[in-house]
Amino acid sequence: MIDTIFIERGVVNHSRTQSIKSKFKNPTIIEVDRYQEIFNKRSQNFRIQKQNPALILAKKHDNFVLPAPSGFGLASTRNFYFSHMYNCIYDCRYCFLQGMYSSANYVIFVNFEDFFDEIEQSIQVNGAQDLTFFSGYDCDSLAFENITGFAESILPLFKSYPKVDLEFRTKSVQLEPLKSGLPIANCIVAFSMMPEELAKRLDKKAPSIKRRINAIEKLAARGWPIGLRFDPLIYSKDWKQLYKGLLLEIMHRVPREAIHSISHGPLRYPKKMYQDITKLYPEELLFSLPMSENNGYVDYGVDVENEMAEFLIKNLKNYVEEAKVFQCVVQA
Ligand code: SF4
Repeated sequence: MIDTIFIERGVVNHSRTQSIKSKFKNPTIIEVDRYQEIFNKRSQNFRIQKQNPALILAKKHDNFVLPAPSGFGLASTRNFYFSHMYNCIYDCRYCFLQGMYSSANYVIFVNFEDFFDEIEQSIQVNGAQDLTFFSGYDCDSLAFENITGFAESILPLFKSYPKVDLEFRTKSVQLEPLKSGLPIANCIVAFSMMPEELAKRLDKKAPSIKRRINAIEKLAARGWPIGLRFDPLIYSKDWKQLYKGLLLEIMHRVPREAIHSISHGPLRYPKKMYQDITKLYPEELLFSLPMSENNGYVDYGVDVENEMAEFLIKNLKNYVEEAKVFQCVVQA
């Protein structure tokens, strides 16, 4: 667990800093001027730091809301994301964060209200139609909820804009505040999924697929719109059998009416990121499978990607209508 908390001097007395701090037992507190002093320090090793990450409480000053990267959105005309946290308490082997940041420490920006103001401004500027905001691009959006209370704070905002979608992307089975609150039709809880056999190997420290399906079942019964994210699709010798088993289990347990959307995307990295991640885990089986470089990206190649996507779509046919299924591909 976390035993060291770095706090920017400017937010030491912020009520959210105090509340987050109180959730930890006797942490060592170190005050800093800016979080970058710790987070962006050179010569850090993500893999070693991941074993005992520190928490950094900071204030974000700009860029609260950004256009979603290609391959992240669904059907909306305009997709945005925001990140109240950098890094994740889970440790998935394919996670792009480990190739993006040199530090595995967790940063939480305590000035949530500035995010909310900028989200509202984006809604005013873009019109409250066909907009989706994604929470959980630089972190898992619900995994640290019992510490941050971020989801609880943001839900009322989206409740007041029923035509604007909010997606929480998660692997967490920590279901509050959703389980005890009334569902909000435009707030989608989107779970990242893969066959249990693969998740056991790759989704380190994340809840098992069995627990995720249990969580989905509970939220669906409460009326929350559910997203299923098969992104990335992971290749293995018996992938067809594994994915078929997973889909059958989901179809059996989650009523189709609860499904807001299903998206899928291939495993794909920018070349430099792929090199950095494979350097961290040279022994990882995932990276020993044949992957090739295409236009600056490393992936399984278009034939395998298409075969996997078509397989998924075919097997979802009798479950949800085609319009609810989206392919998310980072354009090479
Ligand atoms: S849950 Fe998502 S953000 Fe967290 S480690 Fe896994 S892939 Fe990365």
